[in-house]
Amino acid sequence: MEEKKCPVCEKQISKEYNFCPYCGEAMTDLAKEFSKKQTAIAHLKLLSALIEKVQDKNTLDLLEKLVNQYKKNL
Ligand SMILES: [Zn+2]
Repeated sequence: MEEKKCPVCEKQISKEYNFCPYCGEAMTDLAKEFSKKQTAIAHLKLLSALIEKVQDKNTLDLLEKLVNQYKKNL
């Protein structure tokens, strides 16, 4: 079976893995794309929780810009 080296933990793992079984690093383009989306979703959840509590207009504008940035990654 073909193997590759994880760039993070440097363990040898099978080429079939999308994620490193030791440290969870994304190993393929597909997995990287998936991780990016997961991160964007997590950040969007945090941002919407923040937006609910913000009273200041400037801060709200800033947070809205961030939300739009993350939405591009989805
Ligand atoms: Zn690893």
